[in-house]
Amino acid sequence: MAKEYDAIVAGGGPGGATTATFLARQGYKVALFEKERFPRDKPCGDAISGKSVRVLDALGLIDQVEKVPMALALGVRFTSPDTTELVVPFPKPKASEERVAMGKSHNEPGYVCRREIYDNVLFQAAKKTKGVKVFEETPVESAIMEGGRCVGVKTKDGKEHRAKVVVGAGGALCPVGRTVGAYERDPAHWVAAIRVYWKDVKDVDDNIEIHFVDDIIPGYFWIFPLENGLANVGIGMREDYVKKDKKDLKELLDRCIHDNPLFVERFAGATKVEGSQRGWILPLGSRRRRLSGEGWLTVGDAAGLIDPFSGEGIGNAMVSGQLAAEQIHIALSNGGATADALAPYDIKVWAEIGDELERSYKMQKLGRHKWLLNFVVRKAAKSPRLQAQLSEMLSDREDTDELTNWWFYLRLLFMK
Ligand SMILES: Cc1cc2nc3c(=O)[nH]c(=O)nc-3n(C[C@H](O)[C@H](O)[C@H](O)COP(=O)(O)OP(=O)(O)OC[C@H]3O[C@@H](n4cnc5c(N)ncnc54)[C@H](O)[C@@H]3O)c2cc1C
Repeated sequence: MAKEYDAIVAGGGPGGATTATFLARQGYKVALFEKERFPRDKPCGDAISGKSVRVLDALGLIDQVEKVPMALALGVRFTSPDTTELVVPFPKPKASEERVAMGKSHNEPGYVCRREIYDNVLFQAAKKTKGVKVFEETPVESAIMEGGRCVGVKTKDGKEHRAKVVVGAGGALCPVGRTVGAYERDPAHWVAAIRVYWKDVKDVDDNIEIHFVDDIIPGYFWIFPLENGLANVGIGMREDYVKKDKKDLKELLDRCIHDNPLFVERFAGATKVEGSQRGWILPLGSRRRRLSGEGWLTVGDAAGLIDPFSGEGIGNAMVSGQLAAEQIHIALSNGGATADALAPYDIKVWAEIGDELERSYKMQKLGRHKWLLNFVVRKAAKSPRLQAQLSEMLSDREDTDELTNWWFYLRLLFMK
């Protein structure tokens, strides 16, 4: 029997859980369909940046996240292909007025938290919000289209569910995005990546590590700190280069760990967590897709919003989820979720993160040149001017948008 909701959200990751929570808080009846049962793993670097912390703050979930097993991320350490090293501290994002009123003025700059844990905090918060009906282990097969309008979803069990608006939040291969025609698969705008957990890697500290290694450009090798001596280790590379040069990511990852003189010693006494190696794909925001239409919107990876330089997508998934909920509220309060009523969502998303994505795409293209990477990192490691610029920005508490984005500091290193 078909059911009627205000909104259907297909996918319970950071994008979908954020959308569902904000919508239900405004009094809407929301159905949240999720393919898996939570807690579930998601291949990721697990780095949760200042942008995510801001939305977590708006959701009132910072204290919960700070209680679960995770590590703080206080800065970024990276090396150029010629092995020059540079460490840049992250600033703390500005806390919301509510948090300040509670006497909690400082948020941590960011975390590294396994997605099995982090996503579960967001998902359970959505599940507890009055108005959200959760369907776990219920994959959506497709959106239902009637006369060019999206009117609901069909789940794999053959049932149909109807709503005034449908949000595609099913990640990179979201079935809603595919049915409504918002899906694009161009390897020049996707990254392929592998992640594996290791225990007891030497010299892991409070910094996330990004290493530009010879064989993995454009892309990088990462080591991110986690709780109890765990580390998230992985590599990611643009998919067209993986295909063109017939790169084997598993082999490249093994070579970094076991053959590269920079890392061999650090991994010598470490153990790989059995079964933790998993690969997945990242749809980059280097090409703008349409984000809304008659009765539908997409958020997060379903909308292709991942930072083309850093690979960061959790923050943009949460930001887009918050903006989607706002726009749905405006549309439903003013006659319905027509394409015209939802179109400001696209404008707001690009206004919020469009420039940043474009800058990152430029950086990604520049980063293909090893000599340039070497030059820039060497320059930054030695340049008092760049360091002074960084300090100035660190003390400019007004410039929060830039300041709460860790990756801005990476990008800064490539600017004149
Ligand atoms: C290896 C790797 C490393 C990364 N590292 C980082 C990092 O360190 N920091 C960062 O910010 N980002 C990183 N990213 C990107 C980040 O993982 C994504 O941008 C982020 O998960 C997007 O959130 P989302 O909610 O849009 O999608 P997802 O997190 O993919 O969530 C989608 C949800 O939808 C569910 N779903 C899928 N299909 C269906 C269906 N048919 N029906 C119902 N539910 C469905 C899934 O089970 C999932 O729970 C990385 C990505 C990869 C692959």
